[in-house]
This record gives sequence, structure tokens and C-alpha cells, in this order.
Amino acid sequence: MSRFYADLHIHSKYSRATSRNCDLPHLAVAAQRKGLRVIGTGDFTHPQWSQELGEQLQEAAPGLYQLTPAAYQDASVDVPESCRGSVSFMLQGEISTIYKRDGATRKVHHIVFAPDLETVGRINKRLGAIGNIRSDGRPILGLDSRNLLEIILEANSNAFIIPAHIWTPWFSVLGSKSGFDSIEACYGDLSDEIFALETGLSSDPPMNWRVSSLDRYTLVSNSDAHSPAKLAREANIFECEADYFSMRQALRTREGFHGTVEFYPEEGKYHLDGHRKCGECLTPEETQSRNGLCSVCGKPVTVGVLHRVADLADRPEGGRPERVQPFYQRTPLAALLSGLLGKGENTKTVSRALEQALQRCGSELFMLNDCPIADLETAGVDGLAEAIEDLREGRVILDAGYDGEFGRVRIANRP
Ligand SMILES: [Zn+2]
Ligand SMILES: [Zn+2]
Repeated sequence: MSRFYADLHIHSKYSRATSRNCDLPHLAVAAQRKGLRVIGTGDFTHPQWSQELGEQLQEAAPGLYQLTPAAYQDASVDVPESCRGSVSFMLQGEISTIYKRDGATRKVHHIVFAPDLETVGRINKRLGAIGNIRSDGRPILGLDSRNLLEIILEANSNAFIIPAHIWTPWFSVLGSKSGFDSIEACYGDLSDEIFALETGLSSDPPMNWRVSSLDRYTLVSNSDAHSPAKLAREANIFECEADYFSMRQALRTREGFHGTVEFYPEEGKYHLDGHRKCGECLTPEETQSRNGLCSVCGKPVTVGVLHRVADLADRPEGGRPERVQPFYQRTPLAALLSGLLGKGENTKTVSRALEQALQRCGSELFMLNDCPIADLETAGVDGLAEAIEDLREGRVILDAGYDGEFGRVRIANRP
């Protein structure tokens, strides 16, 4: 039994707007650099991707897979010695269901998990008969969420669904433009089969604690990465056997689930309300005082996650259930280095500093969360140890995101 990090919602190169190197070897390399022990495969509903999974993966532990030696080849040279470790894949996909219920159009994203490739085959056969699963790694199906859940459970009683980024306005179970007012309203008679919720980049556990109907769910966080470099920007902490069934059990019971590493919700694209094109960013109170209308164009603003949570909340701000899980708010190492060095995240200067820090200190999650501050001095980047200490202590300045515009985190007293 060990403590490890897992990122269970990612995408492959077969999803729209993803990086071409979202293939298994690159993902395995990136996972080690980030410090992830288990990652989702992404996109298992896509026929070509699921074929690649079959060809390149072998079972590593009950229900989890790792790259065959032939598939991994020389990829490991891109992993600094200090970050090397085994990486397992959990078979995972994301499905968008679009349908009408009670006179409203519903658009809900679901993360789907399966313990073996045979189950994936059965799921894909059923879904392929309902809609097009070939054109996008994250297929859109005209299927009620409840019926999708039934198909998944019929394929294998150990398969499961986690509703994805549950507060996103346009594509989620509780979204202001697309969803329902409760998990039960969405999944109906099968809602007991839902035991975990993905809070998404724009919300954190304290926001979710305000809605008491969510108390019984484990709150998970994942990167939803569209490129290997974005892996682990949010992640989960497990302390159990690294196998599918133990992890599923930990998600069900929270025994062996030790919380999440999170973005600051202000960094998410839909935290506050507003109109990106109009440059109008509003707090929920400001939106209310303007009757929900943009002062620039006069049209209704996109209601962000903070506002939507307040609409559904039955606890005041700061309210919490009896049983809560820990969470750790962090920001990616490349963003920290970019701030410290005054250069863009994608510059040579930042990537050299990142490489050196990984070589000297270990993986990114280790550096952000676990490495003693004194040891971070050896990374060879002026101010990095202090910056990570500030981050761990929450000494940050936040510029909140809205209407699709990412927010920003700055370390206090720094540019
Ligand atoms: Zn999604
Ligand atoms: Zn506007």
C-alpha cells in the first residue's frame, strides 16, 4: 500500500483541439515528470485509440495497464533519473450527452471508467449503435444521462461514471446553461451508482461544501489535459493499492482517498460572471444588481461557477459538512518559474529552469507538495523555494477568470 497521485481525466490525440503528441509513450513520460503513478487513458470510446490501447498496453495490476516494453522503447530518456517511476493507465473516456428532458436541452459530460478492454469493447459496441463515436475522442451522443449510466453498468458492474467538471456552465450536470439542480435529477433511479464528482478547474471543495446535497459524494479533481504538459494541473491523492478495484473502492468510501491537489478556483475559465468579448467581468452580486445583463452589450452575461454555486447553496459561505476531505491549492511549476524569471511559460529560459529543477529535486507534484522547503533551494532557481512556500501557505494574489477567460495567480509581493 502506498500514497500516490492519480489524474483520471485526460484526452488523447483523437479528441478535438488536442496536441498531436497525446499518445501513450508521451503521456507516460509526462506522467513521470509530473509525479503521477496512475493516469487515465482518455478517449477509450474512439475506435482507433482503443485499438492502440489494445496494442500498446498490458495488464500491470488488476484493472490497470502499463505500456509494453516495445511501446515504451526509448521514451524513458526524456525522464530525469530523479522522476523515474512506474506509470499505470486506467481505461477512461469522456462522453457528452445532449438531449431534451422536461422541455429543456441538457448537455452533460461524463467521465467513464472500465476495468478491462473487453468491457471497453462492449461499451463501444452499444454506443456505436446509438451515435458517431468515430469522429471525436469525446463523442456527442443523443442519449439521456441515466441511460448512458445503464449501458456502462450493464457492460460491467465494476465500470463507473464520474460526472465531469460539474459546474461548467455549458456542459455539465449542474451547469447553469445545460444541467440540472441536483445529481439525482440527472441520473434518476440510478443515481445511487454515482459516488464521486469532478469539481472542475473553476470550483474547489469549499464551494461544493455549501451544497448539502453533494455531501455524500467524493470530490475529485483531474487535469482534463489536452496535451501531456497539462497533466496533473489538478490531481487526486490515494493511499491504497494501485489497482482499479482498490481505487474504485477508495472513491466510493473515501477510505484510502486522501483528497485533491487543486487549482485556485479563480484560475478557472468560468469562476466569475461576465462577457469575455465585452471585457465585462462581474461578481455574482454585481450581476444581480444589473439584472443579469452586460453593461456593454445589454445581453445576459454568462453566469460563472461561483454564482451558480450560490444559487444552489443551502449553507452560507464558509459552511461545511461534518466530514470533509483535505485539498491543496497549487499552480503549475512552469507558471511559477515564468513569474520568477519574467519570461513566458513556453520560452527556452523557463524550460531550462524547469528541467534543472526536475533533475535536482524530483517530480513536479513532489516539489509543489512534499519536498522540504530547504531541499528546494538546490533547484538552482532564485526565489523558487520561497515561492513554493508562499503557495503552500496560500500567500497569493488572484485575478479571477470569467466567460471562458482563464484567471491568474501571482505570488504575493512578486510581479
Ligand atoms: Zn468535458
Ligand atoms: Zn456583453
